[in-house]
Amino acid sequence: MADIRLQHVSKTYDGQTMAVRAMDLHCPQGEMLALLGPSGCGKSSTLKMVAGIESVSAGEILFDGVDVTRRDSAGRNVAMVFEDYALYPHMSVRENIAFPLRVRGASRAAISKKVGDAMDLLGLAPMADAAVHALSGGAQQRVSIGRALVREPALVMFDEPLSHLDADQKVVLRTEIRRMQSTQGLTSMLVTHDQTEAMAMADRIAVMNQGVLQQIGSPQALYAQPANRFVAGFIGDTPMNFFDATLDMDGTLRLPGQQGGGLQPPWGVGRPGESLVLGIRPEDVVLHSLPAHVPALRLPATFLDRECSGERDVLRLHSAAGSLHVEVASPCSFAAGETLVCCLPHDSLHYFSAHDGRALCARTVEP
Ligand code: ADP
Repeated sequence: MADIRLQHVSKTYDGQTMAVRAMDLHCPQGEMLALLGPSGCGKSSTLKMVAGIESVSAGEILFDGVDVTRRDSAGRNVAMVFEDYALYPHMSVRENIAFPLRVRGASRAAISKKVGDAMDLLGLAPMADAAVHALSGGAQQRVSIGRALVREPALVMFDEPLSHLDADQKVVLRTEIRRMQSTQGLTSMLVTHDQTEAMAMADRIAVMNQGVLQQIGSPQALYAQPANRFVAGFIGDTPMNFFDATLDMDGTLRLPGQQGGGLQPPWGVGRPGESLVLGIRPEDVVLHSLPAHVPALRLPATFLDRECSGERDVLRLHSAAGSLHVEVASPCSFAAGETLVCCLPHDSLHYFSAHDGRALCARTVEP
């Protein structure tokens, strides 16, 4: 498996659409790196440039330190796993997995051994002779992974591999891909718009927006220490709450309608009179009353409604500072219209520039 590097890689279509801008990325050998971002942010363009399917407008792509920018797809040995499986429906599981080896003229014995190993690894042996069109979506995707692996590729690219699956199959297959990726030491890139999928599967995540890499880091680092407002809002099951705020002339921060005293932001965050954006995750808002000595902003808010997600309820509230979501243990028994005091503990707050959205304070994070 290879070590992959992108150095200042850009992609422009038709001389005008800049799909990817000066992207620097490193996927070390054996790592699963997710490219995550909303539709149109440039994930597929990046994937296609790495795979050699799309030309690079500027910059270099290195495999194990060797410049492969001008090599075609065959010269890079990248295997792809697509969202729609791209299998031969009337061929059997065994025939589909064997296909890339046949095309390369591998010996009968080598094909039999490699296909057998891949089927064992993916739990496909009991259905080896079934036609793939008769299989579930999850099993078809496992066949397509088997077909990718028998090539012994330098890199495996997973392009939205779980998009067509039912919710229960998604969870099973994402665990299975993760297990296989780490036991086999596969260098792999995962393209997805689904942050839950990226958080569950990847060693590190590269978050993209409008063709620009926003931040790259472990799932924990992106969650705890987002580099800007975009990443803060994109990572997390329920998006982070944001409030516009302006520092008083004495440097104190207050939110409209809050009870009690304001807060002194950490050293270096904003200047007196400056506008900024305050962020807090729904799971960090506390609804029971905190002891008075715990520093927190206390914000009265009207309970509107709730959405139940199993063990947790996500409450929707409205305050004078804006609307917010709060996550609490289920079931909660608040009545619509009830006023609740939301405590926003100081050490759970994130601060962003109102001007360009960058994080204003480096928060500490466990490695
Ligand atoms: P994503 O995979 O994140 O949805 P894409 O890489 O497909 O993003 O697209 C990034 C931008 O490039 C979009 O604005 C898209 O319309 C544009 N784009 C993608 N492919 C082409 C193409 N072949 N020709 C022209 N524009 C394209």
